[in-house]
Amino acid sequence: MGNEGNKKRKLGIMGGTFDPIHYGHLVAAEGARHHFGLDSVVFVPAARPPHKGNSSISHPSDRLNMTVLATGSNSNFEVSDIEIMRMGPSYTIDTVNQFRRSRPDATVHFITGADAVLEILTWHRVQELLEICHFIAATRPGYRLENLSGILRDLPSQCIDKISVMEVPALAISSTDIRERVGKGMPIKYLLPEEVESYIYSNELYI
Ligand code: NAP
Repeated sequence: MGNEGNKKRKLGIMGGTFDPIHYGHLVAAEGARHHFGLDSVVFVPAARPPHKGNSSISHPSDRLNMTVLATGSNSNFEVSDIEIMRMGPSYTIDTVNQFRRSRPDATVHFITGADAVLEILTWHRVQELLEICHFIAATRPGYRLENLSGILRDLPSQCIDKISVMEVPALAISSTDIRERVGKGMPIKYLLPEEVESYIYSNELYI
């Protein structure tokens, strides 16, 4: 008998606006789960991304519904509405701390886009955040890694070590492009799950 009973579980938290969620996000989450040996990945749609102020994003309930529809067929995926239910801006430090309280047996790995991680030095209580969780930055094809290393140079080395970069070719798909396509009447089929496509049309999003 070893001490496997004491082994910490690894929890992935997939943070994003998901306006809308698409196959790039799903491939990134599944890739991170496999590569970093995560036990499960919880998708957490951001209520009001702290850096976006009043820019127009879809209603949180629509983004939450689309995320639930997109992840339903993967038993390793869950969706949480904690940021949507919490009042005020969606600070990642609050989200990570909430998960650490509810799942004290798990280490937390926060997965998000490399472009979002580029701004990390401006995030709320960033050093504390990097002390309590690991970061997985998912890059799009053609992403210049030196952008990220240049920014991270200003962090203490023990913080830099907490950030991993993962290339995700499927992130050639982007939410911005999908919104623009819908607005122009162009097809979005095969860029995101059919259930999400139907939800967008039935609820007249992005037109
Ligand atoms: P964003 O500015 O909308 O997205 C930046 C880039 O990253 C976009 O290219 C986006 O592509 C991509 N991206 C976003 N989430 C992704 C994901 N989970 N997987 C792969 N690519 C992703 O960023 P955001 O969605 O608002 O913020 C990302 C996360 O960081 C959220 O959880 C947010 O709350 C958190 N955040 C926290 C703070 C803070 O605590 N102060 C500040 C900023 C961001 P798509 O448009 O295709 O998704």
